[in-house]
Amino acid sequence: MMKTMTCKQLGGACDMKFQAESFEEMAQLSKKHGMEMFQKADAAHLEAMNKMQELMNSPGEMKLWMDNKRSEFEALPDDK
Ligand SMILES: [Zn+2]
Repeated sequence: MMKTMTCKQLGGACDMKFQAESFEEMAQLSKKHGMEMFQKADAAHLEAMNKMQELMNSPGEMKLWMDNKRSEFEALPDDK
């Protein structure tokens, strides 16, 4: 059972779609894509990453963000 989320939905900056069976896998795909965009020095993604970096500086908010994204993922219908 796969679910689809976009880069934007995961705190990124584009409409690239990721498909994964679990939220952990989804987060990994998003992270990998983010690293690729970082290496390309894509301005929109760099800005999105800066915001994520700020979140990471406060563990409570980061956890809240992750919990929200996880519920968002869980609530998605499975891909056909
Ligand atoms: Zn992206």
